[in-house]
Amino acid sequence: MKIAVCIKQIPVIARVRFDPETRTIVREGVPLEVNSYDLLAVTAAVELVKEHGGEVTAITMGPPQARDALTQCLALGADHAVLLTDRAFAGADTLATARALALALARGEYDLILCGKHSLDAETGQVGPEVAELLAMPQVTSVSGLGFDAARNVVTARRDTDDGIETVEAPLPVLLACGDGIAEEAWPGPEQLEAAKAKPIEEVTATDLSQDTSIFGFAGSPTWVDAIESFESARQPEVYDDEDVWTNVRRLVDALEARGLFTGWGAEAEGEKAGQARFPKNPYDAIWVIAEQDAQGALRPVTYELLGVAGKLAAESDRAVAAVLIGHGVERHVDELAAHGADLVFTADHPGLASYATLPYTRVLADAIATRRPFALLLPATVNGRDLAARRAAPRGRGRAGAGRAHARNTQGPRGA
Ligand code: FAD
Repeated sequence: MKIAVCIKQIPVIARVRFDPETRTIVREGVPLEVNSYDLLAVTAAVELVKEHGGEVTAITMGPPQARDALTQCLALGADHAVLLTDRAFAGADTLATARALALALARGEYDLILCGKHSLDAETGQVGPEVAELLAMPQVTSVSGLGFDAARNVVTARRDTDDGIETVEAPLPVLLACGDGIAEEAWPGPEQLEAAKAKPIEEVTATDLSQDTSIFGFAGSPTWVDAIESFESARQPEVYDDEDVWTNVRRLVDALEARGLFTGWGAEAEGEKAGQARFPKNPYDAIWVIAEQDAQGALRPVTYELLGVAGKLAAESDRAVAAVLIGHGVERHVDELAAHGADLVFTADHPGLASYATLPYTRVLADAIATRRPFALLLPATVNGRDLAARRAAPRGRGRAGAGRAHARNTQGPRGA
């Protein structure tokens, strides 16, 4: 079995500081390490190869000092190491990163590609699904356990979701985005590290991957970070601590009613009272919210939060808000979504969509986008929301994906989800 493990060298998070003056992350003088999920993936790959035969290649895109990260993987038992390094790769967003990795991985014809479920510095979790999409390969994200049935050539992955644990089977080739649980933490000893330093590391440049180097780095990135701000919640907690629980409940209900629990929230309620028409609006160019359901088929509360955000964006730009419901028996949620601010509800209802699976859901969403041309799409940062968002963000065959460059303003660290 040929396994590739994508690894990312990151700053030691505990040592990273935020400069409030320049509103940037201070990385100078901060020691570097390999993203811990990626090290677990290397260990899991080495174990699989010990049991079933094959070879493990560790691959990273980074500056020359990322050689140290690869050396650590070689010391853990990887057979080969590949470093994508070139000035043309600098300033890459997740898609440009995935594009370079996918082109390099395509040269190796791997059966299994492992990566971390997310990096601990930027933490988007997008690179794995984007690589899978670019390589037209299935993916399993949020993997916490891994087995291989050699007779059937099938990988069994345990997947942590917001509802619990799923077991997913996938034939090779497949990409797995791995987290805690796939292997025990392992640390190479000084002798293994010394021996690994003597092993070769293949260097790959941008022109080795494509004649058109503008598809990489900053030039090939449809998104960029506009500014980074630290975020402090303006919400003050209200504590009701009377000995009588019913007194506390009464006070809580009064407070919620005062804020508009049954009458609509703030300006929205005022607008409705004033008889403002919310519809008809242009059903194209709308702001879409993916209405996610839990394992029992109930709408997740995050859907209502997204509808609130979409409503604000729609009011600023005079667009409609559309909720997108994918599943089976989803019609029953339409009224509720309308009550929470959706001007339109698009439904895709089929028994085959009863539970979330990456490829059918991505296909439905891609078709809907192609037909209805939304202005923007909001997805929840849940396990499945991230899985779907990242897969959809790397459309194959569109070359430099994305309709244009978009600003990403972050409020909580290097990257918002
Ligand atoms: P995730 O998707 O969270 O990582 C998941 C897994 O993907 C990792 O565990 C690992 O297995 C794999 N992986 C991720 N990155 C690599 C890699 N480089 N090599 C091999 N495997 C990898 N960074 C800069 O240095 N300079 C910039 O100017 C810059 N601009 C950016 C602008 C934007 C808008 C964004 C969104 C990001 C920018 N970044 C920049 C950060 C850079 O895009 C990310 O570090 C990189 O794309 C990986 O994303 P991530 O850390 O969120 O990976």
